[in-house]
Amino acid sequence: MNLRTGAQIFFILFLCACAESDDSPRISDKAPDGHYLRISGASANEFLSSSVYAGLTIQVIYAKGFEPAATTVTQLTGFLNSRINKPAGISIHMNELPDTGKEVFTLADLKDIEYRYREQFTQNDRLTLFIFIADGIYSEDPNLLGIAYQNTSVALFGSNIHAHSGGPDQPSRQLLEATVLDHEIGHLLGLVNNGTAALSPHQHLGFGRHCKVETCLMHWTWENTEFIVDKLKDRMYPPDIDSQCLADLRANDGR
Ligand SMILES: [Zn+2]
Ligand SMILES: [Zn+2]
Repeated sequence: MNLRTGAQIFFILFLCACAESDDSPRISDKAPDGHYLRISGASANEFLSSSVYAGLTIQVIYAKGFEPAATTVTQLTGFLNSRINKPAGISIHMNELPDTGKEVFTLADLKDIEYRYREQFTQNDRLTLFIFIADGIYSEDPNLLGIAYQNTSVALFGSNIHAHSGGPDQPSRQLLEATVLDHEIGHLLGLVNNGTAALSPHQHLGFGRHCKVETCLMHWTWENTEFIVDKLKDRMYPPDIDSQCLADLRANDGR
């Protein structure tokens, strides 16, 4: 193929890309390699190991009124430091988002917001993690508390989190936020059979990439409003990863 033909084909591809629907992933000018557009779990080993990325940069964007508690952020870095190998350290950037005008978010909405507001992208020796705390719920499942929707992208559904925490007989806001964050990041670390192989048969069949151990962080109930208030009632801290999930992480270069 000569250069001119190549340029013409590129131009045609570019036009086609523009004509696609909102559901199609868009490559950010700031991340032309498209690393951030891979599926959930595709970067499991990149999170767990230090061989490619020695450091982790986290960008948290939150809707007005949904700023995470300072203790949530401290807990998050503590959780990551206990499970992943990032000797160059973890840094965090926090920004408030202009009003989205939405109460219900589709997957395409989440990707669109990320495309517009994500500033931190994986490069050199730093992997990046993007966390969006939305002022609404998820279109596909109104009970969902959070979702890990790309290899380095997580969203929390802040309206559900606020409705199920901070009140009488409810867990603290910080405990629920931290629980959902840890759970969603567990999916990015590849649990369960989501990029990190399950060494023993503990995947909860019929419940997606979740662990069948009820107390394990990777049980599906930690990201669903249905049982969460009861499950967190007597807890001070988010649930731990059980021994089987831990063995899987360690076998994939985690801690
Ligand atoms: Zn889950
Ligand atoms: Zn487990």
